[in-house]
Amino acid sequence: MSAVEGLKDVRSRIAAAAQEADRDPGDVELIAVSKTFDADAIRPVLEAGQRVFGENRVQEAQGKWPGLTTDFSGVELHLIGPLQSNKTKEAVALFDVIQTVDREKIARAIATEMEQQGKTVRLYVEINTGLEPQKAGIAPDDCADFLALCRDELGLSIEGLMCIPPFDENPGPHFALLRKLAAENGIDRLSMGMSGDFETAIGFGATSVRVGTAIFGAR
Ligand SMILES: *Cc1c(COP(=O)(O)O)cnc(C)c1O
Repeated sequence: MSAVEGLKDVRSRIAAAAQEADRDPGDVELIAVSKTFDADAIRPVLEAGQRVFGENRVQEAQGKWPGLTTDFSGVELHLIGPLQSNKTKEAVALFDVIQTVDREKIARAIATEMEQQGKTVRLYVEINTGLEPQKAGIAPDDCADFLALCRDELGLSIEGLMCIPPFDENPGPHFALLRKLAAENGIDRLSMGMSGDFETAIGFGATSVRVGTAIFGAR
């Protein structure tokens, strides 16, 4: 399947999953995850109308997106990989959305950079729903305190929560937990679901799904 065929297929699967869940398909945003694919591989997907993309490395995104955003208007770039504090400046300059606010240090660095650049980046807090030691993210029990810190101390508006469930577990309970945490904290956007489980995530209320392999093929 070409990337454009993959895109069409994923779009129709999103619509079917939304319908199944009694949701409006227009309420589920598709983030096409283009990490590891070069500009030439991404271009046809832009030509097919897709405008929202996810990348997981600042440097890699810097190498390919400035050229593409010159050729295509209305592109929205999401950072979905871990952010190192020494890359905050570049990340704030390049991305429209940072989904991986995962610790106080990075939240502070983002707040400082947004002020310095006079740019507002939309933000999601990453939650480590599986409490995996090797994975980034705020522990579910610390979610409320962390959101309060972002809001009250740093003046950051948090648009949504995101999670990456443990690879080898049924993702449903993790999606349900993310939805519960969001509801408890007055947040209504949920970034959850990847190629293997985006239909399940839509059933649990995902407002954004991050899909790479099912569009672009294996990495
Ligand atoms: C790579 C990645 C995805 C996309 O994964 P696929 O299984 O290829 O769809 C989604 N979210 C994050 C955070 C990723 O790093």
